[in-house]
Amino acid sequence: MLPADMTSKQFIRKNVQRLEAYVPGEQPKDRRVVKLNTNENPYPPPQAVLDALQNFSGDQLRRYPDPVCTDIRDQLAAKHGCSPDQIICGNGSDEILLLLLRALVEKDETVGFFDPSYSLYPVLCDIESLAYQKIPLTGSFEWPETDFGGLKLIFVTQPNAPTSLLFPREKIEALCASFDGVVVLDEAYVEFAAHSGMDLAIARDNVVVTRSLSKSASLAGIRFGYAVGPAELIGALYKIKDSYNVNSLTQACVLAALESWPEIEKQIKQVQETRDRTAGLLRDRGYEVAGSSANFLWVQPGDIEAEKLHKLLQSRGILVRFFCAAATRGYVRITVGTDEEMEVLLQALDEINDEKANC
Ligand SMILES: *Cc1c(COP(=O)(O)O)cnc(C)c1O
Repeated sequence: MLPADMTSKQFIRKNVQRLEAYVPGEQPKDRRVVKLNTNENPYPPPQAVLDALQNFSGDQLRRYPDPVCTDIRDQLAAKHGCSPDQIICGNGSDEILLLLLRALVEKDETVGFFDPSYSLYPVLCDIESLAYQKIPLTGSFEWPETDFGGLKLIFVTQPNAPTSLLFPREKIEALCASFDGVVVLDEAYVEFAAHSGMDLAIARDNVVVTRSLSKSASLAGIRFGYAVGPAELIGALYKIKDSYNVNSLTQACVLAALESWPEIEKQIKQVQETRDRTAGLLRDRGYEVAGSSANFLWVQPGDIEAEKLHKLLQSRGILVRFFCAAATRGYVRITVGTDEEMEVLLQALDEINDEKANC
């Protein structure tokens, strides 16, 4: 035990003492809640994935996993038309975002990202004691006219979160061509969108794309993401990653998922249909809804405060996400669930609206 006048705080690095940790969306124990707050896929993963889990043996558990995910990378290389040495797999794409900062950005260099975008980026920079610059989007969350000077690495969430908007392809191309650092296209939701920058990552020497199976493939729980980019740069990430960063159970599930990709694509289409129909129904009710390219809707609720709406929905057992930062506090982010879940949501919104009218 430490003496009463001492604490163990002194042993903690200053930047960690100051650090404000990332706040993930709530994961309630109660399974009855309608959970539309963390952009999970509402459908189960393909049966082949569940079979892979069932058939996993004790002998496979006893051994260390393949440290470099050879079979998965072969499959992904064939899918994307690149070489396996242009691919690295991670424990979720979040892990890869941190590896990119660790491998590429010096202590006196600056990282850039749009505001608003994924709220993990500043946390990762703080962990690495790196300076960062938030680049404000336009008032309607569109691409701003700036020169992106003085940055070593820029994260571009494409489509963007939490706004759900897909930036124009020309803007991405122009940025990659003119930027003198590394452009990281965070494509966590791109399977729900109309275009991707994967070809840029395969062909250019300064572009990396990160992908995730969490949203598109209903596999948030097994933690798998990957990056594609120039072989030299991907090679640097291999040097610093944990030896066994993707566990063997995850590797087996991911292989099965990649082999069942047509099934996953059907579910993606279903989510897109539900998304577009729900957006229309919300607009009919007077909500402003951005044209979503992701599996969530970015909704401005009209004559009720977003924070209040978030609370009222919560009290009815419906979880959506609210971000209290200045640029985002007028909106709620609603994950696209099943048609039934969207029906429950719309009913709750109508009830909230009726109650408001009666008081
Ligand atoms: C969900 C998400 C990720 C992380 O995905 P994982 O593969 O689950 O780590 C990365 N970027 C954005 C913008 C996300 O929304």
